[in-house]
Amino acid sequence: MNHKLTIGCHISSAKGFYQMGLDADKIDANCFQFFTRNPRGGKAKVLDLEDLNRMMDYSKAHGISHFLAHAPYTLNACAKEERLRTFAYETMLDDLQRLEHLSGAMYNFHPGSHVQQGAEVGIQLIADHLNRLNEHQFRTSILLETMSGKGSEVGRNFQELRAIIDKVEHDRNLGVCLDTCHVFDGGYDIVDHLDEVLQEFDRCIGLDRLKAIHLNDSMNELGSHKDRHARIGEGTIGQAAMARIINHEQLKNLPFYLETPNELEGHGEEIAFLRKCYTKDRYMPIHTISDKKLTGTSNRNK
Ligand code: FE
Ligand code: FE
Ligand code: ZN
Repeated sequence: MNHKLTIGCHISSAKGFYQMGLDADKIDANCFQFFTRNPRGGKAKVLDLEDLNRMMDYSKAHGISHFLAHAPYTLNACAKEERLRTFAYETMLDDLQRLEHLSGAMYNFHPGSHVQQGAEVGIQLIADHLNRLNEHQFRTSILLETMSGKGSEVGRNFQELRAIIDKVEHDRNLGVCLDTCHVFDGGYDIVDHLDEVLQEFDRCIGLDRLKAIHLNDSMNELGSHKDRHARIGEGTIGQAAMARIINHEQLKNLPFYLETPNELEGHGEEIAFLRKCYTKDRYMPIHTISDKKLTGTSNRNK
């Protein structure tokens, strides 16, 4: 059994796949995320299969897995204009066709912004989009990212993601990527009530859908709906909560991806810190600890 924390970060794909493998290894990352193309959209580079296979061989030899491809964040599957929805569909279709060459990859995307159409219309359009993509029966799992609820973002709470999933016909390969900054900004208190938040996720979506964690601290307060990432330990979520998240019984085996404002070296420092915090077998949920303390005090006084 693998007792190593699966953690990595977002890595620049500018120099190709093989370089991403080298970069990941340099900072002791055993997973990584990358943009499939310019994050603002646009054309992808011609797929260099030799470069891709070289990365896969290298990764296999160095224990790197869980490649998470991130769709351009400017795509809007629930745009009001049909032209924009078509663009989102064609771009994601092209990405998924490429990702068939990258075994074990997952594909994460921002569900979209409904822009005055209302969440219900947005949810339906996103589900339609996924149903069309699923006709192609790709191997790659598609992950819906939890959003902070900035502007008219769809996916601002677990219920909205559930509503999308409910409307997707072949949902076997459909998962969720939980972004810690986004859910915290969205009003889920993962600092003081992590267990309850995960229970709600489980009730609403099902923890079996949870396939990846974007591990980011936040620059803003709980429920701010802002979405500005901070380095681990430098934001409102803080080091202790981060340690509890990576060690949580229901999360500890998932892949974690940093999207913090850092260069490669800074990410390496965060990874080293988090690896030190990963206590796995010794972990106790925070409530157990505080309960024990309470009864312990009364006993001690007798
Ligand atoms: Fe994202
Ligand atoms: Fe994210
Ligand atoms: Zn974000």
